[in-house]
Amino acid sequence: MNIHEYQAKELLAKFGVAIPAGYAAMTVDEAVAAAERLPGPLYVVKSQIHAGGRGKGKFKELGPDAKGGVRLSKTIDDVRQNATDMLGNTLVTIQTGDAGKQVNRLYITDGADIAKEYYLSMLVDRATGRIAVVVSTEGGMDIEAVAHDTPELIHSIIIDPVEGFQPHHGRAVAFALGLKGDLYKQAIKVSGQLYEAFIASDMEMLEVNPLVETTDGALLVLDAKVSFDGNALYRHKDIFALRDESEEDPAEIEASKYDLAYIKLDGNIGCMVNGAGLAMATMDIIKLNGAFPANFLDVGGGASKEKVTAAFKLILSDPAVEGILVNIFGGIMRCDIIADGIVAAAKEVNLSVPLVVRLEGTNVQQGKDILANSGLPIVSADDLGDAAKKIVAQVKQAA
Ligand code: GDP
Ligand code: MG
Repeated sequence: MNIHEYQAKELLAKFGVAIPAGYAAMTVDEAVAAAERLPGPLYVVKSQIHAGGRGKGKFKELGPDAKGGVRLSKTIDDVRQNATDMLGNTLVTIQTGDAGKQVNRLYITDGADIAKEYYLSMLVDRATGRIAVVVSTEGGMDIEAVAHDTPELIHSIIIDPVEGFQPHHGRAVAFALGLKGDLYKQAIKVSGQLYEAFIASDMEMLEVNPLVETTDGALLVLDAKVSFDGNALYRHKDIFALRDESEEDPAEIEASKYDLAYIKLDGNIGCMVNGAGLAMATMDIIKLNGAFPANFLDVGGGASKEKVTAAFKLILSDPAVEGILVNIFGGIMRCDIIADGIVAAAKEVNLSVPLVVRLEGTNVQQGKDILANSGLPIVSADDLGDAAKKIVAQVKQAA
């Protein structure tokens, strides 16, 4: 689960992390009121969306010459103008895709005088099974280019979670950032605080870009992007309450209501499968046959009629879907029960695209008979390879 920058900074502040003062705003008037509470003379109006690259982003409605989603503002009137420009409009950044994201919230912060921008992130490093602190002296808006062109400027410090964050880790961070004197001490302190926040909140990723050195010698977290381990949210009710469903894919929210693991993809063949491994194999074999899956969907072990119906509706809510491949292994579930569910669901949603079903497992023959006698144009397949060939052929034929 992701949260907004202002929420991430408020969370980090609880761990003592130094952040610029700021207030969230949902309306232009709130943005102005927020600025009036800040000392000035520089304010920053920041679009709050669950995507990075806002500074270099463009608003669809404002044309290519307008400024981006993070704007320095020298007066309260500037704040008003920038808030008016942003609220309700669609910000397109390198991370949002072409559709962009509508800006419904702003964060108005005290503008910092920046001497230098650094990069610091923490993430669960699957290769080492530990937590990696990734730092670079080349922070700011071009970190992707730095990683690509000059990877030697990016350093990783690996922390064993059992040992925890030790003073030598902090010194390694401060040294890698090339800091001296009081800034060196501040870097040790802030990296320890960030690590504590990371562990205590079950974060999956914490990215501070930039971490800035101000002209008066303070180290501040100027931007923060945080995501949490979804499996740990049950023990963080306060964090779960920060969820902003308007930032999430509506189909994925719907899927979570039925406990379906659904991820939308770009192809035209919808997939309904039980088991994540089988779902991956199904997507692979569709590609092997020259087509592309429209989604990943794992209906789980107990595929009831309600679940199957919800899954069909989800798949069909994607206008790109031109055919559906159902691939179910009836182990715990019996194939005849699954077949009943498929037939009932197909009738309920008035299925209008080709449907190929591959069933295997307990009571497979009864299941196939139910499909064959349903009066619906369901194509049965014998194995996974056969199923993929058939659905690809059906979709080509229908086109
Ligand atoms: P992002 O583009 O989504 O990563 O948004 P950031 O919060 O990182 O802001 C983008 C850039 O705006 C930063 O890298 C800074 O260069 C600039 N910026 C943000 N806040 C301030 C500020 O308080 N003062 C100054 N001078 N620049 C800022
Ligand atoms: Mg940033």
